[in-house]
Amino acid sequence: TAAISIKQLKKTYNNGFTALKGIDLEVEKGDFFALLGPNGAGKSTTIGVISSLVKKTEGSVSIFGHDIDKEGPLAKKKLGVVPQEFNFSQFEKVFDIVLNQAGYYGIPKAEARSIAEHHLKQLGLWDKKDTQARFLSGGMKRRLMIARALVHKPELLILDEPTAGVDIELRRSMWSFLREINDQGTTIILTTHYLEEAESLCRNVAIIDQGTIVENTSIKALLKQL
Ligand code: ADP
Ligand code: ADP
Repeated sequence: TAAISIKQLKKTYNNGFTALKGIDLEVEKGDFFALLGPNGAGKSTTIGVISSLVKKTEGSVSIFGHDIDKEGPLAKKKLGVVPQEFNFSQFEKVFDIVLNQAGYYGIPKAEARSIAEHHLKQLGLWDKKDTQARFLSGGMKRRLMIARALVHKPELLILDEPTAGVDIELRRSMWSFLREINDQGTTIILTTHYLEEAESLCRNVAIIDQGTIVENTSIKALLKQL
């Protein structure tokens, strides 16, 4: 089965603007996939629909065979999302933010603590575990979002522009973290407008422009065309 299967996905916002014009996309289990495209192409809208934050107008989305409409809870269990905007409480402490997320998924406390500790250590945030989120740098907040998205051991991790505004050194260390997560079997999809990021990380890529998928191929084949 595919990690995700998107069929004829359309989104028209309430103001009448059609951001997605009928997207078909399939990403295989184990893949590291980039959704590449300029600002305004529809990348965040696509992720919004997948994570049920944005109501779709038409079409279907399945995660490991679970339709997000018909089997929402099963689909959600398999999915971890790192949105672009920081959406945690700035006054909560780092460790608590990750643990509370585990609570939503009903993960036993001891297990949640050990998973959270593992990822916070890998992401260089363990010494900040008792720090309120508002005292973290932008890059640290970004990494906190990643630790939080992984706490229920999702099989599919989707990240919206994970390294936007992050300096090159931190970007490289985030890349190697993501490679490791993918090597351990987690399917990863990220959106980016940096070709370099897709080139460094991904096996397959789709290019989205004005709400339409205009290319869907391996990163190798794409680079040959350029
Ligand atoms: P939905 O169709 O998913 O219900 P809405 O059309 O109601 O979404 O818009 C959701 C929110 O996004 C609104 O608060 C709206 O003001 C805001 N919004 C409107 N236009 C844009 C835009 N171009 N980019 C980002 N957000 C926007
Ligand atoms: P990307 O993530 O590729 O930059 P988005 O999915 O954020 O693109 O946006 C796609 C298009 O939809 C843009 O033209 C954006 O202005 C518009 N848009 C996004 N959110 C809303 C909204 N809530 N209401 C109306 N238009 C929106």
